[in-house]
Amino acid sequence: MSARICPHCKSELTAANVVAYTNGVDCPKCGMRLEVASGSREVSTVAGLVAGALAWRLASGATSDLGEVLPTLYAFLAFGIVSPLVMMWTANLRNAPALPGPEPAHAGSGHGAGGHDGGDHGPHH
Ligand SMILES: [Zn+2]
Repeated sequence: MSARICPHCKSELTAANVVAYTNGVDCPKCGMRLEVASGSREVSTVAGLVAGALAWRLASGATSDLGEVLPTLYAFLAFGIVSPLVMMWTANLRNAPALPGPEPAHAGSGHGAGGHDGGDHGPHH
């Protein structure tokens, strides 16, 4: 299990919570409204489709008494398992843009969006 970091207060959110509320989740610590970046959701969907297609092909090649049913079943299961897993690993949380903040027009610019990976450690704080 991986965890997501709230971009606002840096507290960890369990991936299960994030996946359960894919449209948005409130940070349990600071209450900041968060949402999963749209790109990762598409990635997880595509990955699930690919996994389903692979499972379907593999199951189709295998000889079985239930040869008609199993490929579809496997494809369905693969999609249902892989897609949320990929979502857990790829999902990035961001501040939900539609949140009406208590301070109007304050969080537009200024602080960086945190695009850099790894903080810079100043020699003296
Ligand atoms: Zn937070």
